[in-house]
Amino acid sequence: MSDVETTLRGPEAYKIARRALDLMERHQIWPTALNFELWTHYVADPDGALAREITRLISMGEPITEMLSEELAAAYLPKARLNEQIRDAGDLLSKELESVSKAIQNAQKTNAAFGKTLAGVSKDLDAPTGVEGIKAVVSSLADATRRVAKENKALETRLAESTAEVDRLREHLEQVRRDATTDGLTNLANRKAFDEELERACAEADEAGTAICLAVLDIDHFKGFNDTWGHQTGDQVIRYVASVIGRVAALPRFAARYGGEEFAMIFPGEAAAVVGATLEEIRVEVSSRMLKRRSTNEDLGAITLSSGFAERRKGETGHSVMERADTALYASKRSGRNRVTAAETQAESANAA
Ligand code: GH3
Ligand code: MG
Ligand code: MG
Repeated sequence: MSDVETTLRGPEAYKIARRALDLMERHQIWPTALNFELWTHYVADPDGALAREITRLISMGEPITEMLSEELAAAYLPKARLNEQIRDAGDLLSKELESVSKAIQNAQKTNAAFGKTLAGVSKDLDAPTGVEGIKAVVSSLADATRRVAKENKALETRLAESTAEVDRLREHLEQVRRDATTDGLTNLANRKAFDEELERACAEADEAGTAICLAVLDIDHFKGFNDTWGHQTGDQVIRYVASVIGRVAALPRFAARYGGEEFAMIFPGEAAAVVGATLEEIRVEVSSRMLKRRSTNEDLGAITLSSGFAERRKGETGHSVMERADTALYASKRSGRNRVTAAETQAESANAA
């Protein structure tokens, strides 16, 4: 910035502006922006070349026309005016740049390379170096934009491809996980999934300070059933029992086919009385259903099942609770089958000892 410009933007600016307007009025100068610029320069730098020329013209009685003002500005203020144009162009470019940059950022937020180019271009715009400088800035911006458009297209395609691939892999993984944790015959969880779920549920119960009951259910005299009706019909019966158990095992309950004709259930946060009643429901439903052989429609009669359940003691391992539920199941079998038995409570076992 020249000294005159510094003065024009300094603390004297209003004083200079008022004096310039006074002089313009006195000499009948039309108050255009250009004339105002000329006359403020005249006041701010009274010994400068512009002021001397104006003084000379006035002393000669020359009328200061618009054309003369243009000539004076072109002769004495060229740098200032060019700088102004560059500033304006720079502002416009900055605005354009900002909106382009926003659009691209929205479209592709992760394109770091373009961010760097933009930062470089913005810096160039802060210090414009004439028309050639602006041309260079615009051309580098155009180059960068073209490069980015190409990169973005390629990136988009790659992203779409990898998204599809990730979806496919995730689906495959989910299928593998399902296969590994599901029993093929009944679609209930398998023993591995049950053991994992039991461990998770015990940890969760410890954290929340809540109860857990475990149940074991086993079809009665199933060896005999298989011997009479064949293994395939036996499979149908296992599926049927699984469907009854599955229906009452809505979350957070959890049911699994634990072994051949044996099932296990987890009841998180439920009282022993509710669990006993639920197992009784299952027992009644299974035993009251007259089974038919699917292929021949032959009557198979009814089957029964026995179960045992235990309420987890504070801090007890899942394995230990399962053992106690199993002991209760054995008690059901010993005392006639087709029944539900609760494991001994802590007080009872203490009395027994
Ligand atoms: P209990 O009342 O004491 O449980 O008598 P059970 O005959 O049911 O008991 P046991 O353990 O002696 O026999 C279980 C039978 O279950 C053996 C086998 O024939 C049958 N079994 C086990 N897994 C399957 C299976 O996947 N399909 C079929 N059809 N039968 C199975
Ligand atoms: Mg059995
Ligand atoms: Mg068994």
